[in-house]
Amino acid sequence: MIPPGATLGILGGGQLGRMTALAAARLGYSCHVFAPEPDSPAFAVARATCTSYEDQRALEAFAASVSVVTLEFENVPVAALELLSRRVPVRPNAAVLAVTQDRLAEKRFLTKHRFPVAPHREVRDPAEARQALPALGGRGVLKTTRFGYDGRGQRIVESPREAEEAFAALGIGPKVLEAFVDFEREISVVTARRADGARASYPPVENRHEHHILRTTLAPASIAPSLAAEAVALAEAVARALDVVGLLAVEMFVTRDGRLLINELAPRPHNSGHWTLDACPVSQFEQLVRAVCDLPLGDPTPFAAAVMDNLLGEEVRAWPRLLAEPGARVHLYGKHEIRPGRKMGHVTRIYPLEGGLRR
Ligand code: AMP
Repeated sequence: MIPPGATLGILGGGQLGRMTALAAARLGYSCHVFAPEPDSPAFAVARATCTSYEDQRALEAFAASVSVVTLEFENVPVAALELLSRRVPVRPNAAVLAVTQDRLAEKRFLTKHRFPVAPHREVRDPAEARQALPALGGRGVLKTTRFGYDGRGQRIVESPREAEEAFAALGIGPKVLEAFVDFEREISVVTARRADGARASYPPVENRHEHHILRTTLAPASIAPSLAAEAVALAEAVARALDVVGLLAVEMFVTRDGRLLINELAPRPHNSGHWTLDACPVSQFEQLVRAVCDLPLGDPTPFAAAVMDNLLGEEVRAWPRLLAEPGARVHLYGKHEIRPGRKMGHVTRIYPLEGGLRR
């Protein structure tokens, strides 16, 4: 066990790291954040090392200063994680990251373990993309295998010609062409897992996206209890198969005929789990700290229903009005530069659990 008082290392300095550091502080831990961007939001609330993930000396000094390393960003180079893990426990480990930072590796892993995913093909050039589309129903989403997030690195394609053109537009490297899923809704489950296999999962939530960016999370999702139980069981089974220590967010589509398809995995706190800060006894951030420090996992049962809205780009300027709104729980990430679609903060409103959430 890594007791309160110890220092936790966090790779990545975004808002997820910032909120993890704040949760760690509440439990008496200190944090040391390693991130390459000088304006990292987490630097304001933790000790900071600002350099590249290739800087071996800095990684060594970082490892020497912490009791355990976790991450808030899955695209940390595997070599950096391997270097760190020779000196200090890294949770989740490099093998988990190797799978989840590459869509193709992730799809292969899920398929190998017979977890449900949308029909897809690996395509290596524009001609393969063109040829693969008809077998996937004529409409698909072409995705880069690495560094895609918030809709970057993907295009909806509706004809073989579009598939061919999109391949070129998305740059070099292999891609995944997925069948377009005409889903009923999108849900996600955040599950926590400790090294000894102990686990705790938040209930599924419903996510609404705009331009591929998360706009709103409704928690819990208003789905049948049997489907909710199935989603939680699926997320926990994936976390176990991957041997995740920490958090795993599993994004899923609910198809119109009521099946679950896994869209994406993230082995870290997730935007769709921000509501847990305001509507659960223990938030996803504190749960991550507990999981990687081998503490008892917290109770993930919500005491309220919640609607979480991201504040994207200029929307953050509404903060004076939001602060004046009774009951609105405002979270601002301290980002200095406003860019279109950039996640600047979020606001959560909570409601009685009974009575349901309709929107
Ligand atoms: P991703 O980056 O894979 O999480 O995709 C971002 C968003 O794009 C998803 O949350 C969906 O709203 C949409 N999307 C991704 N893949 C598909 C698909 N195969 N069919 C329909 N919509 C998709």
